[in-house]
This record gives sequence, C-alpha cells and structure tokens, in this order.
Amino acid sequence: MKITKVDLAHIAVKPEQYPKTFLPEIALAGRSNVGKSSFINKMINRKSLARTSGQPGKTQTLNFYEINEKVHFVDVPGYGFAKVAKSVRDQWGKMIEQFLTEREQLKAVVLLIDSRHKPSADDKLMYDWLIHFEMPVIIVATKCDKIAKSKWQKHVNVIKEELGKREEDELILFSSETGYGRETAWRVIQRYI
Ligand code: GDP
Repeated sequence: MKITKVDLAHIAVKPEQYPKTFLPEIALAGRSNVGKSSFINKMINRKSLARTSGQPGKTQTLNFYEINEKVHFVDVPGYGFAKVAKSVRDQWGKMIEQFLTEREQLKAVVLLIDSRHKPSADDKLMYDWLIHFEMPVIIVATKCDKIAKSKWQKHVNVIKEELGKREEDELILFSSETGYGRETAWRVIQRYI
C-alpha cells in the first residue's frame, strides 16, 4: 500500500466530536505497550505520528488518522492499565463502548496481541466482547521479530486456542521492527474498507 497522505484528523472523547465524514473506519485496540503506536506508524510509513506511549494508558482519547483520504484508523486507548483510577477506567469503558457499538462506518477492529505471550485475561475479554457485538476482528500478533521463526507457528496456535479464534477472523504476525506482515495487514484491511 502506497501512503500518499496522512493526517491526525480528529481527536474525540464523545460522539459529537467524531469526524462528520463517511470514510470507512478501522479501530485499533490492545493492551498498553503491545506495540499499537508502532503498528500504526509502520502501516503509514511515519516514524512517530502515533505517539509511542512510555506511560501506559496515558492517551485517553480516540485519535482518528486519515489515510490517503480513503480510510480512518481510529487509535483506541490501551486497556489493562491497573494503575489508572477506577473513575478513569469507567469513563474509558463508556467512551470505547459507545464508539465500538454505535459507529456505523466502523468496519473492523484490529486487536493487537503480543506474539510472545499467551493472550491476557483482558485480551480475551476484549475479543469476546467484540464477538458479542458481531464485529469483524483482525488479530495482529506483534513483535514477532522477538521470537525465533521456528517457533512462530507454535505461538500462533497458542493465541488461536486461548482466544477461541473464529474461523473468519484473520491472524497476522507482525513486526514493526522489520516490517514483516505489513503488506498482509494492508491486504486484509482493504477487504473491509
Ligand atoms: P503501545 O503502548 O501499544 O502504543 O506500544 P508502543 O508502540 O509504544 O510499543 C511499546 C514498546 O514495544 C516500545 O518500546 C516499542 O519500541 C516496542 N515495540 C513495538 N513494536 C515492536 C516490534 O514489532 N518489535 C520489537 N522488537 N519491539 C517493538
């Protein structure tokens, strides 16, 4: 995918602030530190448009990136940040739920999972919740450069089994270090937009 134009088009915390355009949207979710910002930056060929978060759970907004005037990537704040106050977590939940359940042009959710580890309880909750709302999910297993290629299939199988992956959801190994999986990820995303 050739990237010709990218803007951080909108930042929103409530529906009135969502973009008024009808571009198809792909949301990106994952626990803090999973490599979500790095994934976005790699996909759009930018070094640091999406902030890589030193502080887990810091970004509490929905960030809409407009790509090639064709699609919005919607960066959803990372989950699983125990240190954040309950009031903030509740607010987060409401904001995300509203967006994921009510946004008509949302086509699919990229759920990022660290390829090195078993999916966490939060990862499983998130996947089950997306299934409950009949949302197409693209599972991206991040940081695959950190495991030996000979072990990739084993790690993929663990993620599939632990999540109870639906047949129709793709699972893509990805590395923002090497760019592995980038073309596949774009090909799958393009199917939904
Ligand atoms: P976020 O909190 O989900 O947005 O995660 P970041 O994109 O900020 O990444 C968290 C940390 O993991 C950073 O130190 C990144 O450099 C590192 N990281 C992210 N993706 C990869 C990857 O594909 N390979 C390796 N080796 N490190 C990665």
